[in-house]
Amino acid sequence: MNIALIAHDKKKELMVQICIAYCGILSKHNIFATGTTGKLVAEATGLKVHRFLAGAQGGDQQIGARIAYNEIDMLLFFRDPVSPGPQEPDIQPLLRLCDMRNIPVATNVATAEVLIHGLERGDLDWRDIVNPKSNA
Ligand code: PGA
Repeated sequence: MNIALIAHDKKKELMVQICIAYCGILSKHNIFATGTTGKLVAEATGLKVHRFLAGAQGGDQQIGARIAYNEIDMLLFFRDPVSPGPQEPDIQPLLRLCDMRNIPVATNVATAEVLIHGLERGDLDWRDIVNPKSNA
């Protein structure tokens, strides 16, 4: 499965922590991320992370394009619900694309844990049937 990670600045540490906690599961999948989020996760976990541009430079839109092409199977987008920076990516366009493609999304750590457990259990294996190219 192809899993995309984005975290606003105040949520990056949380993203790193969950990736450390579930590194064993995540290592069986392809991980994509916006620039800074991906750098921090890769450094902390040793996971191989395909990094797009930084969010402020359009990395979220690069992930959006992958979602539109149905090349992403799960999105973890930890947003800052209180005071996102003006340069930080807007979640709404990505949520819309995920809803169009039926892609599971977590916007907080509680939902992310549920999705990752589901991933490990095989709950998302239907995506390989619907979209056999997503792991190509
Ligand atoms: P980043 O993008 O991972 O490159 O920081 C996300 C953000 O800007 O919040």
